[in-house]
Amino acid sequence: MSNDVLSLVCNRERLASLRSLNLLDTPATEAFDRLARLAVRLLQTPVALVSLVDEDRQFFKSCVGLPEPWASWRETPLSHSFCQHVVATCAPLIVSDARTHSWLHDNPAIRDLGVVAYLGIPLTLPNGHTVGSFCVLDSVPRTWTPLEIGTVRDFAAAVMSEIELHALRGRLEARIEQQTADLGRSNQRLDASHAEARAGYKRNEAALQENEQRLRLALRAGQMGIYDWDLVNDAIVWSEEHAHLFGMQPGDFDGRYQTFARRVHPDDLPQIDRAVETARIDRQLFQEEFRIVWPDGTLHWVAGQGRFFYDGNGRALRMTGVVRDIDARKRMEILLSGEKSILEMTAEGAALSTILEAIARNLEALSDDMLCSILLLDADGMHLRHGAAPSLPQTYNHAIDGIAIGSRVGSCGTAAYRNEPVIVTNIDTDPLWTDYRALALSHGLRACWSMPIRSGDSRVLGTFALYYREPRSPGTADMELIERSTHLAGIAIAHRHAQTALHDLTHKLEQRVTERTAQLAETNAELESFSYTVSHDLRAPLRAVQGLAQALQEDYADALDTMGRDYTRRLIAAAERMDALILDLLAYSRLTRADLTAEAVNLANVVQRAREQLATDIDNCKATIKVKKSLPAVTAHPATLLQVVTNLIANAIKFVAPGVRPRVNIRSEHYGHKVRLWVEDNGIGIEPEHQERIFRVFERLHGIESYPGTGIGLAIIRKGMERMNGTAGVESALGQGSRFWIELPLDRSNHHR
Ligand code: ADP
Repeated sequence: MSNDVLSLVCNRERLASLRSLNLLDTPATEAFDRLARLAVRLLQTPVALVSLVDEDRQFFKSCVGLPEPWASWRETPLSHSFCQHVVATCAPLIVSDARTHSWLHDNPAIRDLGVVAYLGIPLTLPNGHTVGSFCVLDSVPRTWTPLEIGTVRDFAAAVMSEIELHALRGRLEARIEQQTADLGRSNQRLDASHAEARAGYKRNEAALQENEQRLRLALRAGQMGIYDWDLVNDAIVWSEEHAHLFGMQPGDFDGRYQTFARRVHPDDLPQIDRAVETARIDRQLFQEEFRIVWPDGTLHWVAGQGRFFYDGNGRALRMTGVVRDIDARKRMEILLSGEKSILEMTAEGAALSTILEAIARNLEALSDDMLCSILLLDADGMHLRHGAAPSLPQTYNHAIDGIAIGSRVGSCGTAAYRNEPVIVTNIDTDPLWTDYRALALSHGLRACWSMPIRSGDSRVLGTFALYYREPRSPGTADMELIERSTHLAGIAIAHRHAQTALHDLTHKLEQRVTERTAQLAETNAELESFSYTVSHDLRAPLRAVQGLAQALQEDYADALDTMGRDYTRRLIAAAERMDALILDLLAYSRLTRADLTAEAVNLANVVQRAREQLATDIDNCKATIKVKKSLPAVTAHPATLLQVVTNLIANAIKFVAPGVRPRVNIRSEHYGHKVRLWVEDNGIGIEPEHQERIFRVFERLHGIESYPGTGIGLAIIRKGMERMNGTAGVESALGQGSRFWIELPLDRSNHHR
């Protein structure tokens, strides 16, 4: 079995999938811890783990309730892993008692981590690889109910959503980094080409004086327009290329500044006017990037540069310079920086509709005649809902919202149905548009190219479409742009889906915790009335038995023979024992219900009071009790802590071999924010296999003839510690004395009681 397990666990692709999640050796995060904490509360188990099984270890992305040192190490070797079996079989592992389980009985985790019962559900990625398990552990045997198994399944699903979200976040961050780098490079290129142009311009300036004709040829070859502005006569001369960059023929330009200014995008003009003024006054190079509105209404980016020339009195006579086409570069730059901010919005959790609208606008900014539409596939997988279409007519968006997908439902309905791109170059004639043609044409829409938006595992999430007002077919550059934006929309939608799924699941689980807490409260109330009944109803007849037996002993002693007197004595002893049992049980059940408000408690005081309570017993057995001088203050419920410490000392002086004088040593240790109190004795010791069960109610290792007791003392200790967010345990070997310990949070405020 174990070799098989190892080879399955070490499957290369599985390990690659696990690594690609980037979760190994990352710090604990609240999102995972919260789920593990919820599981612990809901299932009332001491431990819940999000365990990722690597080739030689299991790493705990979350480990709530795990004992030290494992909790700090956050991993164990595979030798200690139950989860590896979940990974190897890709199936839940449900174990009531590992000690009798055929695969697990010799697993050292039973001893070292105290795992007895185990319930683990595989954490399986959409690609089918199981990366680990979500599991709950218990230190006592436990039969897991179908409801509990279902609950842990829900938790595992929530963990998977969280893992997907984490992976998406990782991919997002990588993309943002990539985009930032792209942007940086594109800016560098832009700067370099500026520098080049500037150098060219200076060279050209020199050439101007030498040979104007040669310059003209050079500029034409470089696709630069040249202008020469005679300020005295207010007349501008444009080269042929200059006119072309403004979407005009050379003869169309009347040489007036006003005509130039009218062609510049109105938003960019003030900045040009200012720059021209500065260049003239400061005798600097004029240098601006701006948009030109061509006579056909389309926008084009250009970069202009120029310099003023002055007469002997410092009056500007003329300005000459060049204009270059930077349209493609500028649009790419805008697209990239838009994409970057969209990814940031996604990572920051902006509303999906806002993000989709930004994606549409970002693409629309590239071209004047393109209208974007993003539709989202409904949860039913059959209808398309409005996502974002900031520039399409509202009435059109309304009409489309909620259409059923199908084999002939325009471009988007069909693209979603087929899960492939649908490029309709002419709505007028395309049969896919038969049912929607009138609607589209009435809104002036003539072409529509639609792409399915897909999730990581190729499911359709929606559609991304570009509409045009003229029949039109896409070029490679168009397709590239659509793919970019479609991908971006896919990331945003998948991110949102993962978030929603996680939110829903967490909500469901929290609701279940609330329900379960209410149920528990109800059960507690029932228990309370039961305890009351026990104490009153059961103790009353017991009192009668005790009283009558005592009367028998005192008043009829003479009438009884030796055997009769012995019976009476045993009757009294049995009744006393029963009374002690009832009282202990009541104390235990009270402990499970009472509200234990924690406060700062000085351990030294508690130990002192426990010794006072046990003074008679200590005297009787001539025990020596040594207490380390300075014991710190802890956070605890004072009365419960006193009971716990009293029980510990009582056992330490009780369980010694006959004739041995008990010697007890009490000391404390610090572990970070925790304090461990040790009570060490020179008693009979406890075999390792019994060290766990003695903490359960009624578990005793000896008959009452040799050591009296009810078997509830340690159960009270364990329950009391649990209720105070602490733990208890023992280290011992038979015949070697025992070292019992309890652990509590250190009181950080340090004011002692
Ligand atoms: P009780 O003391 O009433 O028997 P406890 O719950 O306190 O019940 O202890 C359970 C059992 O654990 C004891 O019966 C005894 O067998 C074992 N035990 C507890 N404390 C010690 C100790 N200090 N040394 C050895 N055995 C112990």
